[in-house]
This record gives sequence, structure tokens and C-alpha cells, in this order.
Amino acid sequence: MDIANLETINIGIVGHIDHGKTTLLQHLSGKWADTHSEEQKRGITIKLGYADAIIKKEGDKYTTDPESKGEPVRYITFIDTPGHEMLMATMLSGAAIIDAAILLVSASEGIKPQTREHLIALEAKNIKNIIIAQNKIDLVTKEQATSNYKQIKEFVKGTIAENAPIIPISAKQGVNIDKILEELCKIKIEKKDENAKPLLLIARSFDINKPGTELKNLHGGILGGILKKGTLKVGDEIEIKPGLSQKKHNEFIYTPIKSKIISIYKGHYKVDKATPGGSIAIETELDTSLTKADSLAGTVASTIGGLSDTTNFIKLQYDLFKNIAGEDKVINPIILNETLMLSVNTSITVGIVSKVSKNEVELKLKIPIVPIKEDSIGISRNVGGHWRLIGFGKINL
Ligand code: GDP
Ligand code: MG
Repeated sequence: MDIANLETINIGIVGHIDHGKTTLLQHLSGKWADTHSEEQKRGITIKLGYADAIIKKEGDKYTTDPESKGEPVRYITFIDTPGHEMLMATMLSGAAIIDAAILLVSASEGIKPQTREHLIALEAKNIKNIIIAQNKIDLVTKEQATSNYKQIKEFVKGTIAENAPIIPISAKQGVNIDKILEELCKIKIEKKDENAKPLLLIARSFDINKPGTELKNLHGGILGGILKKGTLKVGDEIEIKPGLSQKKHNEFIYTPIKSKIISIYKGHYKVDKATPGGSIAIETELDTSLTKADSLAGTVASTIGGLSDTTNFIKLQYDLFKNIAGEDKVINPIILNETLMLSVNTSITVGIVSKVSKNEVELKLKIPIVPIKEDSIGISRNVGGHWRLIGFGKINL
């Protein structure tokens, strides 16, 4: 199978907590995404979960069963996001790397605050390809399902998801999962620029060596993420920014890192080069102590010279919402010296407002970022002890 050239897309699974995102992901891909032990204990997704699958067509049925002899249609990376309000920033870092989304709404609970917040985020990130899954259909009567359908229709009216298909499913019982796969194969995605300077958004980093591995068999540090544009090849020299963080005199200093690509993986498949789309993992020459436990998550990589300089200072054109999503709490204007949390690509940073006007704000950042023009940045404020999304901004270079 020619995996490197199979059409590849990233699908985010979003929606309120407990509406069935992780269960659906398991059915779509045959895997559990909640792999971190704390997540299993608490039964919620804290970090982004990933699972890759190949959708095949068998007659007129779509399947991700690895045993299927059907024709491969698409390579999909599913990204499971947390639905908990406190983890909205992580959901946003997921939204930074997806082409399309499945928005789950539990038929038994209906539209909830994070259903709203997530749809707002999809709108801000301009993710037009949305499939709505009306989940837990096994728990409701026909009348309840119809009234929930109407509620969903009302909810999406006038939004980016206005014409999104609504598919009734039971993630738990595996009902109508093939319909979701069929919709996923219909999504048209814009061809991304393979000739641009590469931009790899790093969402995780790790060490794959088992304790006791012999020196000659040791692997270098692994970076996992999404190639937004350009092409990366085995042997390429790369740079990673902001890079390595070290604490000096109570302040974090960041040093860009250079390395070389030893191998590239797409799911379980080893490939020679990666083009945009789908999640990839690259093995580098880096010492694994630099990549373990997601220490480089939130950084970006390119070939040497492909990234602009890291900065501790940004200027944003911004728009605030009227209310906190799902509540009637009014959002007050941004004020001088207040602390805001920013979701920039896959990274999260905190900034202090140093200047603010009606539509422009300047912030001094705790963790520096690599500014990318026109990038949509989520702005959150601490409201009653929780970080709540209050608006979006665009970087003004
Ligand atoms: P998440 O927080 O959105 O990831 O939700 P989970 O996938 O963790 O599901 C939350 C709970 O709902 C779990 O107990 C699931 O077993 C249950 N659940 C998920 N989908 C369905 C469904 O279609 N029907 C029923 N009855 N329960 C479901
Ligand atoms: Mg979950």
C-alpha cells in the first residue's frame, strides 16, 4: 500500500465532556486514546489523544477494520480533545492542527457550555468541514431524539456548521459509525503547499527506548506533530524553536535546537518524506533527555532558516465575545497589566498586557513564541479560578 501518497487528513473530535468523544474515537480507530494513567483514573481526556486509521471501502460500506480487504480511500489522524472547560486551551491546540471536526452532542443531554465553546473555536480557526454526531441515541426515545435534533439545528443556525450533516449514532454500541466514515471520505480539503518552507507544529515529544536497550540499538529523541506546510525528508537538518528551556535566576531561558532527521513515521509506517497532512513522528539525532515526557510539545520545527525569530512580545488585533460561552457572564474589556492566557498553535503561554486599545493589544509573554503572521490565537482570562475563552486575536507583525 502506498501510504506516503494516500490522501491524509486530521480530524478533531470535539464536544462537551462525557458526550462520548473518546468512546467514538475508539470505534473509529479501534484504539483507546486515553492512554495516560491519570486520564484513565479520572476517565477524562487531559492531553490530546491521537489515533491513526486507514478508511477502506468495501462494496458501499466504509470501514477502518485493519483486516478489511477493501480499497484504501483515506488516511486519517483522529485527535481526541478534552471537553472539560478547564482544558479548553488544550482543545484549542488541537484545533490548530485539524482539517475537519466531528462535533459530538449527546442526545440525552443536548447542547452544553463546551459544545458552544468548541463550535466558537472551530469558527475562529475557520474549520468549515464539520460533521455533527448526535450520540447516545440508544439512551433516548424517538421523540427525545427528534427534539434534540431540532435543538441542534437551532444551535448551528447562522454558524459555520449551519449545513453540517447531523448523524445519529451510538458510539458505545457502534451504531452508524460507517456513516461517519463515509462523511469523512466526502470532505474536500485544500491542497497544502508542499514547496513552502516546512512548518511542523510539535504536539508531543518522547523517548521510545526501553530500559536496558543496547547502545547500538538506541533511538534518538522523537518529535510528533502535524506538518502544516512544506516537505520534510530523512536527512534534513532542522531547527526547533523556542527550543530548550532552562531555569536561570528564576527565569526561563529558551535556546533554539538544531538536529537532523533520522527517520519519519506515519502511524506504523516508515516513510522517506512527509508532505502536509496527517500526524507524523520524526526520529532526530537529539538526546532523548531533551524530548522525553512531551518536553518539546508546543514548539515548532522547520529546516534551518525556516522559522522567524522567537519573541517575548506580541501585538494582536483582537475581538472579544459578548459573553462567556454557555453562561450569561458578560466579558469585560481587556485592561492594562492584566494576565491573559494565549493559545498559539500547539503552545500555551501567559502574557501581561502592556498596552491596549479597542482592537489592538500588546503583551509581554512568559514563554516566548514563534510568531506566524495571520495565525488565529485564542485569548483566555481567569474567571472565578478557571481559564475561560474570551476571544481571538491575530498576530500583527
Ligand atoms: P468524553 O468525555 O466526551 O471523551 O466521553 P467518553 O467517551 O469518555 O464517554 C463518557 C461516558 O459516556 C462513558 O461512560 C461512555 O461509556 C458513555 N457513552 C459514550 N457513548 C455512548 C453511547 O453512545 N451510548 C451510551 N449509552 N453511553 C455512551
Ligand atoms: Mg475523553
